[in-house]
Amino acid sequence: MKVEVFKLSIPFLIYPESEWTDSWAVHLYVKVSKGDVVGWGETLVAGSGIIGAYSSVIEELISPVISKFNLESPWDVENILEKLMFTAGTCGVVTGAISSVEMALWDLRAKELGTSVANLLGGKIRDQIPVYASLPRYSRVQDVIEATKKALEKGFSVVKLHQPPGNVLEAVKEIRERIGNEVKLALDLNAPFDLKEARVFVEKVNRYEIEWVEEPIWPPNDYYSLEKLCRISPVPVAAGENEYTLHGFRNLLEAGVSYLQPDVAKIGGVSKMMKVIDLASSYNVRVAPHDRPDSSPLASVHTLHIASARPEVQVVEYTLGEYPADLFHDAPLVRGGKATVPDGKGIGMTIKEEMIKNYPLTPSLRILKFSDLEGKFKENG
Ligand SMILES: [Mg+2]
Repeated sequence: MKVEVFKLSIPFLIYPESEWTDSWAVHLYVKVSKGDVVGWGETLVAGSGIIGAYSSVIEELISPVISKFNLESPWDVENILEKLMFTAGTCGVVTGAISSVEMALWDLRAKELGTSVANLLGGKIRDQIPVYASLPRYSRVQDVIEATKKALEKGFSVVKLHQPPGNVLEAVKEIRERIGNEVKLALDLNAPFDLKEARVFVEKVNRYEIEWVEEPIWPPNDYYSLEKLCRISPVPVAAGENEYTLHGFRNLLEAGVSYLQPDVAKIGGVSKMMKVIDLASSYNVRVAPHDRPDSSPLASVHTLHIASARPEVQVVEYTLGEYPADLFHDAPLVRGGKATVPDGKGIGMTIKEEMIKNYPLTPSLRILKFSDLEGKFKENG
């Protein structure tokens, strides 16, 4: 078994262009090979600037361990690698690094068996998965309006904004006044508020018919405050993209979230995702998987295969942007707010490896000003 890491900069192709374009251009792919059969997976490079930390874990530990101990089962890989690295944490870089390798092993195994990943997970119960358009952050509310109109034109009926506390209410108000109620709106706040501020926010935004408010509270694992908010919030609360362990997901469920949002490229891959879906199911809570909405479809396609086999998945986060056609063959089609799960063996999508050289990683400081960092520090030069 051979494990290869690819570090890429894939431009985030979206109009209107967002201030997150550059931050969301960093990607880490893994290819595992066994003879002529290959599988592909993706790690979500959180924080964007620390891709070397993820690649180092894969190249210096995961790859040699897999060959030395002949670990080929994705279930084993997730479980054993977490135990091997738990003193470095059961989250973040550790589970992110495991994710791409684990995913690639599912793709590889399905191809070896001549079937799809969805079939390995129990079989497709649907070919088309409801998806929502996840917009990047915009400085100008006018751009949010343009992007929302574009999403509707493309057939999406649900749009999620990533606006900061400074202009999210204005953006929602403008959408309702200028576009109306035909679009369903979710708001991703990226953890800016304390409990008191979050309470004020949900009360204010309630009049605009919001599907969910996502990660309203800092820090996102302040389950105590989250529970207090969930109890009184008139708007459903969603969270989970910054959880990594089953215990963490259970804490969110106990806090009373209405949507659980695990990310297959962060938590440790497909097998962990299946466990999280089982857990959510036991609480009768809907699963709305997180997916970074940029121009890379690899983790998204894995998520679609899971969603096609699991009815508990209600809706999947999706890009409004475009995928580079020279790099991806058979990327999912989106029509009428639904993404078609690619047919074929494995994940049914081919990465044109010879094209990867066209997307070399360009070094630069890439940071996302999440939480309440918006406007907090100025850049020199
Ligand atoms: Mg989010």
